[in-house]
Amino acid sequence: MLPWQRTTWAGLADASQLPHALLFCGPAGIGKRQFAERLSVRLVCEHETACGICRACHLASGGNHPDILVLRREEGKTEITVDQARALNEFLVLTPHLASRRVALIADADHLNRSASNALLKTLEEPPAGNYLLLVSDSPARLIPTIRSRCQRIVLRRPTTEEGLGYLKERAIPDPDAMLALTHGAALQAEAWPRDTPALAVRLMADLEAVAAGTQSALDATEAWHAVDLDIALSLLVDIAANLAQSVLAGAPASAMPAGWAARLRVLASRLDLGQIFRLWDGALEARELAAAPLDRRLVWDRLFTLVEARL
Ligand SMILES: [Zn+2]
Repeated sequence: MLPWQRTTWAGLADASQLPHALLFCGPAGIGKRQFAERLSVRLVCEHETACGICRACHLASGGNHPDILVLRREEGKTEITVDQARALNEFLVLTPHLASRRVALIADADHLNRSASNALLKTLEEPPAGNYLLLVSDSPARLIPTIRSRCQRIVLRRPTTEEGLGYLKERAIPDPDAMLALTHGAALQAEAWPRDTPALAVRLMADLEAVAAGTQSALDATEAWHAVDLDIALSLLVDIAANLAQSVLAGAPASAMPAGWAARLRVLASRLDLGQIFRLWDGALEARELAAAPLDRRLVWDRLFTLVEARL
């Protein structure tokens, strides 16, 4: 049990009182799926506690409980499809095998496409008696309103800095302060990201500075970045651009950034005008928005680095 979820867990009603459709939301990387998974185990557990000892708990922890169905995007797909949603509907109307109820969990409900969402509406409206549908979402605004309105929402919070650092230190993650700052306190994301992420962020600032100073071309910088994990690199770039704007407008970067960033950001900010900084910020946000689709990474980076290129 993640320490920052204990209160929410303890506050959950007994299964008999629990709504049949729940939507777990909150920022990415804070453990929402883990929470929903644990609840699915609790709902099939012989003692209704997720005891971890009974047969149901053993099966569930191995992902083998016949009364729990987990739905997520299939490998290489960007959406949860209508066929998957229909399979879920069929699963929920069947009689439980071992437990007294069945539980379906949709791990990234943001990715339900329109027809999949529509297929789920009837199940959400009249859930088969005694069965539960758990949805997990980083951005519930992307769900269609009729889905949102039929679920009871449970908002899970980020860990506090202390809780997040405790989590990362327990797992011996190096440079936990920087990792937690770069993931905005999303401790599970910090755990999942490569250990060299803080160094990557520093390298990105250095390359932006070199391009802005005219000692490196946008093309050369692109060569160095097109092979790097795009999600992570763009997330770092959004942070860098946001903090550059903050440095210029407010005189200091946001305090939550890793130690040692302030001086680097000041140097970089001095090389750019505010228009460039905002275009970089917009460009990074836009690229991140599109990053789920297959992109030509060279093109993405070339465009971004060109925004800060020194005008010689
Ligand atoms: Zn159990």
